[in-house]
Amino acid sequence: MDNSALKELMQAMRDQMLSVIVPVYNEKDNILPLYEALHAVLDGFRFELVFINDGSKDESIKVLEKLAEEDPEHVVLVDFRRNYGQTAAMAAGIDYSSGDIIIMIDADMQNDPADIPELLAKIHEGYDLVSGWRVSRKDTFLTRTLPSRMANWLISVVTGVRLHDYGCSLKAYRREVLEGFRLYGEMHRFIPAYAGSVGARVTEIPVNHHPRLYGKANYGLERTFKVLLDLITVKFLISYGGKPIYLFGGFGIISILISFISLGYIGFRKLAYEESLVRSPLLLMSVMLFMIGLQSIMSGLIAELLARTYYESQSKPAYSVRRVVNVQQKGTQSELEQHLSTEG
Ligand code: UDP
Ligand code: MG
Repeated sequence: MDNSALKELMQAMRDQMLSVIVPVYNEKDNILPLYEALHAVLDGFRFELVFINDGSKDESIKVLEKLAEEDPEHVVLVDFRRNYGQTAAMAAGIDYSSGDIIIMIDADMQNDPADIPELLAKIHEGYDLVSGWRVSRKDTFLTRTLPSRMANWLISVVTGVRLHDYGCSLKAYRREVLEGFRLYGEMHRFIPAYAGSVGARVTEIPVNHHPRLYGKANYGLERTFKVLLDLITVKFLISYGGKPIYLFGGFGIISILISFISLGYIGFRKLAYEESLVRSPLLLMSVMLFMIGLQSIMSGLIAELLARTYYESQSKPAYSVRRVVNVQQKGTQSELEQHLSTEG
């Protein structure tokens, strides 16, 4: 982005607060360079840098404390009691930040802070979520890049939100799209899929990627399996979270139907040809399928109860609103009027 475009963007976004969220786990040598690079890019915007020390075992916390002391205007520090993982760190970052726009970035300098203005430009264009796409990724091919490509393809197909790089941490979000859901386990990579499923406008732009200079990567091949399991969970939540009985009950009904068909078949053979019922494996199969079907419908009913508890305990609506027009916010309206009348 050239200088005049950047100036224009700063001007256009002057009312919006940016929160850059940085999860930190054993990154002592990376923090300072990252901090400086972020400052260089963001000076001119209204911004805060939220560092979450995720139970680092090195001197990361010392470096962070020093930064927080020297630059209280921009640095927010959240220090976990122990290591809870990157997703938890990101969730804490969201909770403790105050920006209208949230930018996630890794602490390891593999992402390039210089890409942030491009992300912001897309947000300013009207997108709710802008994902980085590490076009030339600098990680080992066999254990990192290849599994990641397959995972991205699979997630895109299954969730219908097509992105090349779900795993890239460098992303920008409008706060509203993050407020709807809680982050569990290692689910942060699925935020775009979730957001897309509730109607957020999601896009991606190519970003730089550098090899790690200091410290070591925290994940390996085993992550692929976790991603697969998470994908099943996410797909279930997106498609059936509000109506689990359709999935369980649907399976149950099919199972019971097959059991009736097979029972009818052996019953017919018995009556027509005097064939023994008990010598056919189909009798056992019918009974099994019937029981499985019944169980499945029962599980569906329990899941329905759980879904109600889930939505209603947090008074979470079953919909997501982009904006409303001409809706009187009754509480605030009358408060304002009261205030005005007491003022004089
Ligand atoms: N991270 C964290 N907690 C952890 C593991 C990692 O906060 O338990 C942070 C880490 O410091 C980095 C980011 O998450 O800022 C991504 O970690 P890493 O670079 O190891 O992941 P990769 O780039 O290999 O996906
Ligand atoms: Mg990394």
